[in-house]
Amino acid sequence: MKHSERPREVRIDHLTSAEIAEAIAGGARTAILPLGAIEQHGPHLPLSVDSDHADALALRIAERLGAALVLPTVRVGYSPHHLGFSGTLSVRASTLEAICMDYCSSVAAHGFTRVVLFSGHIGNYPIMRDFEPRLAAALAPALQVIVYRDSAAVLDAWRKSAQSVAGLGSHVGGHADVAETSVMLVLHPERVRSDQAAVGYLGTVDEEFLHRAFVDGIDAVSPNGVLGDPTGSSKAIGNAALDAVTDLIVEYATAQGA
Ligand SMILES: [Zn+2]
Repeated sequence: MKHSERPREVRIDHLTSAEIAEAIAGGARTAILPLGAIEQHGPHLPLSVDSDHADALALRIAERLGAALVLPTVRVGYSPHHLGFSGTLSVRASTLEAICMDYCSSVAAHGFTRVVLFSGHIGNYPIMRDFEPRLAAALAPALQVIVYRDSAAVLDAWRKSAQSVAGLGSHVGGHADVAETSVMLVLHPERVRSDQAAVGYLGTVDEEFLHRAFVDGIDAVSPNGVLGDPTGSSKAIGNAALDAVTDLIVEYATAQGA
């Protein structure tokens, strides 16, 4: 589809049904399915961070892939390890899988031939890796399901972005840190309580640590809910991180045929 024919608005919930049908007929056969979370993000960020982040990545991914429309972000994710903090919402793994299955089944009936799933919330990734084969098998051959799975690469991209822009790679801990705070300074600066920002857990975030955080809860490993350090956050880091993660997902999806 030529650029001039592509609708400027790519979010399906902002389009009319006729506009969506026309876009699909014109070649927009890829649907982007962003997953998020509504979970605590330390004393300085609202619970919407991962969903807001997913919203923004989805638009960038759709723009880069072209011929793609964006489904509404699944705003509540798998966050049992954050339930020790007021307001956090969590759905069961089976619920998240069922929601993704139902979203995909819905769009398969309308002519989309491919769905690209990714998450703005690192904690959804183990669930996505687990359900990917079941989703793919259930929706084939009408719909190809491409699940971006590499959460370690996302964390690495955040570290490299903070390091290259400001020498702050060590402030990335993966949660409400310099990367996520910087992304929010780009997307919704009015929602960042910068005066409340405080350092969190600064130790190694390896498999053993993550296991402990999942079993005992984030509050057991970081009383203020932050992993890393938000100090030094900036729009420049946020833009670099958004670009780097967009690149990762676009490259993976393209390699899978999108
Ligand atoms: Zn987050």
